[in-house]
Amino acid sequence: MCGIFGIHAPGRDVARLTYFGLFALQHRGQESAGIAVSDEGRVTALRDMGLVTQVFSEQKLRGLSGQVAVGHARYSTTGSTHWANAQPIIQQGRARTVALGHNGNLTNTSELRAGLLADGARLRSTSDTEVIAALIARDERPLEEAVAGAMARIDGAFSAVLLAEGKLVGFRDPHGIRPLVLGRLEDDWLLASESCAFDLLGAEVERELAPGEMVVVDDSGYEAHQAVEPAGAGSLCIFEFIYFARPDTKLRGVELHGARVRMGERLAAEAPVEADLVMAVPDSGTPAAIGFARASGIPFAEGLIKNRYVGRTFIQPDQALREHGIKTKFNPLAEVSGKRVVVVDDSIVRGTTTRKIVAMLFEEGALEVHLRISSPPIVSPCFYGIDMADEDELIAGGRSVEEVRGQLGATSLAYLSLDGLQDSTRRPEGTFCRACLTREYPTQIPDDLKLAKLRFEGQTVAGAERSLANPTKTSMLATSGTRPKAS
Ligand code: 5GP
Ligand code: MG
Repeated sequence: MCGIFGIHAPGRDVARLTYFGLFALQHRGQESAGIAVSDEGRVTALRDMGLVTQVFSEQKLRGLSGQVAVGHARYSTTGSTHWANAQPIIQQGRARTVALGHNGNLTNTSELRAGLLADGARLRSTSDTEVIAALIARDERPLEEAVAGAMARIDGAFSAVLLAEGKLVGFRDPHGIRPLVLGRLEDDWLLASESCAFDLLGAEVERELAPGEMVVVDDSGYEAHQAVEPAGAGSLCIFEFIYFARPDTKLRGVELHGARVRMGERLAAEAPVEADLVMAVPDSGTPAAIGFARASGIPFAEGLIKNRYVGRTFIQPDQALREHGIKTKFNPLAEVSGKRVVVVDDSIVRGTTTRKIVAMLFEEGALEVHLRISSPPIVSPCFYGIDMADEDELIAGGRSVEEVRGQLGATSLAYLSLDGLQDSTRRPEGTFCRACLTREYPTQIPDDLKLAKLRFEGQTVAGAERSLANPTKTSMLATSGTRPKAS
């Protein structure tokens, strides 16, 4: 995942506006941040590891003057925490210089990369973003055609902001997997992953880019082109609704907070339980917990305090601190002692955090811990940019709900049904990518990519092929008769 932002606004401090836009999008990526500006066509960029506020200072922003800017906040997937991967990336090609910020993941990078290298391109990294930039930078057709040409050749998920020839370009893959919104600040145009970035700047949402659409902004305003044929009604990532996007963001006209409250209400109806209080795993579980409390009539209470300053570049505690049982991110409140608690969270991925939270609550004296999850079990990896691990790292992959409950040590566990989730979005089922929940991918995933993800964890090729062929079915509720011991 990543957050992207772009602005074309001659006469304004575009770098500063981009800084604030990225600040609003910080939740989409905390590993590195960067801004590229174009000043009369000359491109300069600054990018570094860390949060937006760590990378930029007043002085550094003052060094970035221009009329157009693009920015990026990066969330790395495993093993690629390097400065070289920070974005926007700059590519100088025979046709033009481009700065590119990309959210998503391509699925045909290696093939395209081989073609580019054979054609003499100089690539510095193995990143899919550099491939997109290189395709556009060396294409000698006019900019619009070069971007459309690249869009037709790359597969997978991409929402991107690009700066070239003094123009701002935004484009979105034919499935529209990652969000991208066009905004307006008086006479100037902006692009952002989420509408919350415009709220901060006092800008208005103009509209979301359509799947396969490209928008080009120059001094005379913006032009939209349907650069590639959209794939059906699109496949917006449903995980944006479940977890990723900020609750005050609106996607397809729906405020995500409201959708998440509905998920919690539905969950209370689907998996009721007798308890003394409903609490959230903050912050992401809070809207659904509010909904659960509202629908069940069980009072909402805070049971865990979260330290919000644990970023991705957080220094890991040493072994001594770990053994002391360090609670870097969450600390339980005595409020839970002697109570039967419903703990609402939006999702379980690997189960590591959830297991610790359950144990912590029992240690604090909770009598029962009923886990209620406002999404269905995540059973299949994401190839489109969400850091969701490989199949055998997913705790619900190949396990029944009862088995997952046992692993987590909870009194009971229930997940929201797929229908319940879908209804809560108030948007039609056929407009979402739900592959992590259903194993149905909207695009062709090359077998080598699937196998690589599985084989990475040391499975044999035959074993990996077997698990590709045999999706497991899980039922939605599990309850233990006895109270599990706190560890
Ligand atoms: P787990 O118990 O699977 O280790 O963690 C579950 C928690 O991770 C939930 O609170 C959920 O909100 C959060 N979560 C889900 N997806 C992501 C993600 O992509 N990145 C981060 N940092 N947290 C996530
Ligand atoms: Mg969470």
